Amino acid sequence: MTECLFCAIVAGEIPATTVLETDQILAFRDIDPQAPIHVLVIPKEHHRDLAALAAADGALLGEVINGAHRVAADEGVSETGYRVVFNTGAHAGQEVPHVHGHVLGGRSLAWPPG
Ligand code: AMP
Ligand code: ZN
Repeated sequence: MTECLFCAIVAGEIPATTVLETDQILAFRDIDPQAPIHVLVIPKEHHRDLAALAAADGALLGEVINGAHRVAADEGVSETGYRVVFNTGAHAGQEVPHVHGHVLGGRSLAWPPG
């Protein structure tokens, strides 16, 4: 079994509800949704967090961001608005150390975040 949770999802060892897949990225529904639309977008390749991915492969980071917008459009929230969040490190409460963008939409989202 792959040690990293999201690498295990990429490997098909743990099931997920995929909404978008390309050669480089995967998007799947969050298991504990915080909004009507809550999808996680990840690079298939393992990078710990946004800082690591930005340093290693800016083009791949671009794929992830483009994927986030495609998900928002496919899910019907690109007109009403959506938020893309990359929790990075301890103060942001990052729990899974495989970089992921949360795509949140389908309701009004409070600002500032808690
Ligand atoms: P973060 O706190 O930014 O690291 O976010 C991790 C996210 O992964 C949380 O929103 C969890 O609900 C979500 N999550 C954890 N396990 C799974 C899983 N097996 N499938 C889908 N989402 C998951
Ligand atoms: Zn991983």
